[in-house]
Order: sequence, then C-alpha cells, then structure tokens
Amino acid sequence: MTHAGTPPTPRSTLVVTAHAGDFVWRAGGAIALAASRGEKVTIACLTFGERGESAKAWRAGKTLEEIKAIRREEAEQAAATLGAQVRFFDAGDYPLVATAELTDRLVAVYRETQPDVVLTHPVEDPYNGDHPAAHRMALQARVLAQAIGYPGPGEIIGAPPVFYFEPHQPEMSGFKPEVLLDITEVWETKRKAMECLAAQQHLWDYYTDLAVRRGVQLKRNAGPNLGLPHKTMAEAYMRPYPQVTKELA
Ligand SMILES: [Zn+2]
Repeated sequence: MTHAGTPPTPRSTLVVTAHAGDFVWRAGGAIALAASRGEKVTIACLTFGERGESAKAWRAGKTLEEIKAIRREEAEQAAATLGAQVRFFDAGDYPLVATAELTDRLVAVYRETQPDVVLTHPVEDPYNGDHPAAHRMALQARVLAQAIGYPGPGEIIGAPPVFYFEPHQPEMSGFKPEVLLDITEVWETKRKAMECLAAQQHLWDYYTDLAVRRGVQLKRNAGPNLGLPHKTMAEAYMRPYPQVTKELA
C-alpha cells in the first residue's frame, strides 16, 4: 500500500524451484524482466540439483559436497546476473521429499516477501518427481500463508497469481502454453545466466532454440501490427487459477 511521503513498495516475485538450474532455463526471462523494472525477485531453490542434474560433475569424479558447492556458486552467479536473490533450502534432491517442515519454511518466505506473482513447476513431470514435489509445496505454502490461523511470523499474504513455467518435456507433462512472455529485451541477460551453469552446458543451445520457437508463436498470436523484431524471444507459462479482470483483454 502507498502512503503519502513513502515510496511505493516495489512489486515482488517469488520463484519456487526444485533444483538450481530450473529458474534459469524456465523463468530466467521473466526474472530478468521484473528485475529490469526495479522489482524484487526472490528465488526459493529447494535443492542444488546435486544428484539428479549434475551428471557432468559426477563423471568428473567430484564428491557430493563438492558438487553442491559448485551448483550453489553457479546458481548464485546466475541469479545475480538476472538481478534476483536466491535462497537455498538444501533439502536434498533425487528424491526431493515434500514435508511439512519444508512447506513451513516456504510459508515464511511467502509472508516475508509478500509476492505479487508466483512462478513454479507445473503439476506433472513423469521424468522427474522432484518437480511435482516442489510444485505441491509451492502451492500448499501459498494457501497456508494466506490463512490467518496458520502460525508463523509475518503478515498473511493476498492471492498472488501463479504461473507454471515450462518443463523440459512439455507435451508429456501436460504443458500447454497459455501465456507467451516477450523476453526479447532481456534475452542477452538470460543467455549470460544460462552460461553461468557450466554443469549443464548441454542445455544452453536447447533453451536458446526453445526461446526462438516460443517467440515465433508469440508473434503469430500477437498479430502482424505490433512491429515486433524479427527474432522475438519468448517464454511460455500456464495459469492454474483464473485471471481476474474488469476488461477482457
Ligand atoms: Zn529440475
């Protein structure tokens, strides 16, 4: 709320991800865009992806603790590049287990950051159970954080809209683009953040190609008169809750 004489609170985005790389591949553009507008972006990163998404480091003979340290540093660099702050829960991946304690820690982050927008994994991912586990805790914590009767520090939150970012295997995960976000102006920032993740170098070009393809779809849906650049880059999202509006647009 804005009071006379006090600057307005910047909008806040909360990103809840299972692993260290997820926020970069799937939502790096949205994060960089929000940060470029001076908004606050907080990433709740539940694990480092140390077991399931660090094959290169395991092949190189690194230990679990070394891999966690590598992934932490990479993710911190990527988050800083995007303009976001990252919090590591170090909950352990493969499997990430949804627990009341972890959900409660997420409730505290919701109440502290008071998000206007929440980004997280979609419901399904038959290839990686950690992603649906993160999804369930992200949505459960959002509901608990709204309840005045749920104990914990901080003020209750409103009803921030939730956006599901794109999984690695969209068709098999029941993912259908409902929102196409134009990330052209921050594309170079997203690419730089991806390049911080040396442990997953094989994905850099894959997610560049995906952004090009989603950009083509964005232009097709935007119509010919918007004057969009030849190479529009985009990210796709789903919305689990209805959009609330006074005007259909
Ligand atoms: Zn992941």
